[in-house]
Amino acid sequence: MKIKERCVVVIPGWELMSYFSDTTNVCWFLQQDLAEAIKALHREIGNAATEERYIVVGTGSSQLCQAAWFALSSLSEAKPLSIVAAVPYYSTYEEQASYVQSQLYKWEGEARTFNKPGPYIEMVTSPNNPDGTIREPVVNRGGKVIYDLAYYWPHYTPITRRQDQDLMLFTFSKIAGHAGSRIGWALVKDIEVAKKMVQYITINSIGVSKESQIRATTILNELTKTCRIKSESFFEYGYEKIKSRWERLRWVVDKTGDTFTLPNYPQAFCNFFGKNNSTFPAFAWLGCKEENDLERLLKEKKVLTRGGDRCGSDKKYVRVNMIGPNEDFEEFLHRLLTIRNPNCFEP
Ligand code: PMP
Repeated sequence: MKIKERCVVVIPGWELMSYFSDTTNVCWFLQQDLAEAIKALHREIGNAATEERYIVVGTGSSQLCQAAWFALSSLSEAKPLSIVAAVPYYSTYEEQASYVQSQLYKWEGEARTFNKPGPYIEMVTSPNNPDGTIREPVVNRGGKVIYDLAYYWPHYTPITRRQDQDLMLFTFSKIAGHAGSRIGWALVKDIEVAKKMVQYITINSIGVSKESQIRATTILNELTKTCRIKSESFFEYGYEKIKSRWERLRWVVDKTGDTFTLPNYPQAFCNFFGKNNSTFPAFAWLGCKEENDLERLLKEKKVLTRGGDRCGSDKKYVRVNMIGPNEDFEEFLHRLLTIRNPNCFEP
């Protein structure tokens, strides 16, 4: 809102009508300006390597995740290829991997106990949705790893290294909150994987909205331009905002006595901010000390969350959104403060 004039995008009705953007590029529907904006932002933040990589744009990283599964499983000899993730995992992976009943891949759930021989895909989400932990692969038997780095930005977590994995997913949704634009990108090392991902998106949606790409370009460029100017940097703003929300949530949890638990996160040196920081995840992994159905308890109090069971975990945990509108967050804190003893809850 403070820099609103600088993020206005005007698109004349006669512009960007074609399916195509750049037919010389592997990702022929990627606008060149967006590719440049993505590279510039990663360079400035230092969170991921873009050199010697193909950028594949998608309708959100959700589409890219499915494109990557299609690509890796099509190129694999073993089918269906197992897909695993350490619990608690982002519940959408399970839904997306299962609903198509594909013969190419199969959701196998918890990575820590996965013991089928042969190739597999492991999803590594870091920081993790839903519990904010910093993650590494756990299977380590030479399978393919997809790094979902949706939250690897300095307002959420210290940037401790420049990620340089073979297949990394990012999204416009979680940087400054533009989930509605539905823009995500994959940084892909292997051209064959990139081509297969492009094939998937070609068949699935014949490319990605040009209007969304243009808007994302303007906003990403603005984030890059201002990221070192303390008073204008979105990352400074976002960091202060989410830090203060976490501090207040911890205060409220403390006030409710022994009722709830929250994870603690270690500090680490952030190369972007140049100081030691903690992680302030976009979701709070709220637990309940007694055995309980915490999602149901909170729903009774008009707080909507996602139950831990959907993330392969326990019903005594829920995932709470920390990055919604101010009023929603204030109301959530207020409602949480009024729950003192979940054992009094009668279904
Ligand atoms: N990965 C993770 C870990 C997410 O949390 C989300 C959004 N909740 C996505 C992917 C999907 O993001 P997009 O809006 O880009 O489809």
